[in-house]
Parts: sequence; C-alpha cells; structure tokens
Amino acid sequence: MAAETYEGGCHCGAVRYTAKVDLSEVVSCNCSRCSRLGWLIAFLPASEFTLHSGGDNLTDYQFNKHVVHHLFCSTCGIESFARGEHQGAEMVVVNARCLDGVDPASLSVRHVDGRNL
Ligand SMILES: [Zn+2]
Repeated sequence: MAAETYEGGCHCGAVRYTAKVDLSEVVSCNCSRCSRLGWLIAFLPASEFTLHSGGDNLTDYQFNKHVVHHLFCSTCGIESFARGEHQGAEMVVVNARCLDGVDPASLSVRHVDGRNL
C-alpha cells in the first residue's frame, strides 16, 4: 500500500490537518506515554503534513530525551500528531486513530518495545 492522503485532527475539531501517509503498517509502542494513550503510530515526512487549524491551541509536551514534540489540543486534550526529527530530517507522526475514516481494527500493527529502548 502506498501513501494516501487523510484528514485528521483532535476530538473537539480545533486541530485539523492533512497527512499523506502509508498505513500499510502502524506501530504500537509500549513506552510510558504511548501505552497510556493507545497510540497507533504512522510516520511521514514533515513536508507531507499540513496543519490547517489549531496551531495556536496546541500545548507542547516533552519527556525522556526531549526529541519529540508531543502536541496536544489544549481544549480537548487529544494528541493527534507529534513532531520530531529522524536522521536530520523533520518528521511528523500521526496517531492513526485520529485519522478520519480509518478503522483501527483493520490496520496491521507492529509492536515496538519502546519501554526498553
Ligand atoms: Zn481539541
């Protein structure tokens, strides 16, 4: 499956974006944050991500090595995407659960041991 274009966002609708992302495999991570949130992680280059609204409503949370900006909606609390860097390239991760029209149960999930990385 190739990358497809999805719309997504937070719960209250303040944060809305378009992401061109390959959902042929998503990642479930057992680190202290992902496991609490139930993240289904999909990676894409920042250039394939467009934030349409809600940028001024985001709170930036960082932990551990402080490399990822966990951006959650200040109104509804949902972190529908995050920004980071991978090998010098700006990356975005989206939570596949926050993409419109995506059935999480239909996705192929790879489990990553983030707790012990
Ligand atoms: Zn919201």
